[in-house]
Amino acid sequence: MASYFVTSSAQSDGRHTVHDRDRCPPSRFALGGMEYLGEFGDAQQAVVVARVRYAHARGCPCCDPRAPLAPLAPRHATQA
Ligand SMILES: [Zn+2]
Repeated sequence: MASYFVTSSAQSDGRHTVHDRDRCPPSRFALGGMEYLGEFGDAQQAVVVARVRYAHARGCPCCDPRAPLAPLAPRHATQA
């Protein structure tokens, strides 16, 4: 299980990104603007819950390799 968060502010294209607390760079969370979603077995479950709050929620590429990459989605510069 992992702790998942969703960004409370939409990106310029209206998306809210779901992040895994353990997989995303800590700097991502230091900025604030994250809402706690809960503990989930994988990012797909977290995205389903996030979509209850935000219809345009999606997993971020660094947290969920299966998330489809979108041109407007920001990538983490510090991804290991
Ligand atoms: Zn992430």
